[in-house]
Amino acid sequence: MIDCHIHSIWSDGEDKLEDIVQNAIFKGLEVIGFSDHALSTEGREEHMGPEKVKDYLEKLNVLGGKYAGQIKILSGLEVDYSIGNRKEIEESLRNVNPDFVLAAIHKVRIADQNISLWDYKDMNAPDVVEKYFRNIYSAIETGIFDGIAHPDLINHAVDLPTSYFDQLVDLCKESGVAFEMNAAGLTRDVYDLTKERLVQKSRYPSKDLMRKLVEKGVNLTIGSDAHKIEYVGGNITPIIETLKEVGAENLCYIESRRKVKFQI
Ligand SMILES: [Zn+2]
Ligand SMILES: [Zn+2]
Repeated sequence: MIDCHIHSIWSDGEDKLEDIVQNAIFKGLEVIGFSDHALSTEGREEHMGPEKVKDYLEKLNVLGGKYAGQIKILSGLEVDYSIGNRKEIEESLRNVNPDFVLAAIHKVRIADQNISLWDYKDMNAPDVVEKYFRNIYSAIETGIFDGIAHPDLINHAVDLPTSYFDQLVDLCKESGVAFEMNAAGLTRDVYDLTKERLVQKSRYPSKDLMRKLVEKGVNLTIGSDAHKIEYVGGNITPIIETLKEVGAENLCYIESRRKVKFQI
């Protein structure tokens, strides 16, 4: 099994890198990728700055050597992207050398307002939805990201038909940028606009969207988005089962900025 989206105490996760590695080996995972939040002042306070990123990557490098033969450990960064912070990110990435860099959109800026993807009501406005997607398209166009973390996270706030993702699917296909299957979506409550509250219902990753992605041959990565050790590897199996149902044969992981196929 494979899990390429894990957080540790280096950002907003609760556990140490080595404890997570040992737990992943115990659970039988073959490949894990850490993706701690980094390099963007747009994001949360616990994001790592460039200096801390160097220490984090060094630590992962040591662990990679120590556990070689038992598990493959990949070093990744989850970077909050918006059209306005491209230069800052490009600059910061020049001096670090992770296995992979994922762009993530957790907030949408409209005029002077930052709307979080957890501001459910505000997210349900056409201009906010449009800006969310424009940020992702822009992230792909920069050429600085290997993949997009949870591109369909917006579905937990807004009930969007799969057709909203058509352009994104095409852009991922053309660019080779990976679309992440974020397994945390299976357990995330979603906002019901008519009831104006959260309801217990999974809305992403949707089987319809998976089918489109697989038919187009988009590079797919997968991750639990675990912030606690007990969720490492969580919900990966049911997503892989659904991917197989729609015809997928491979996922990929990203090592030294290159995509490597992983048979499922
Ligand atoms: Zn995220
Ligand atoms: Zn994450």
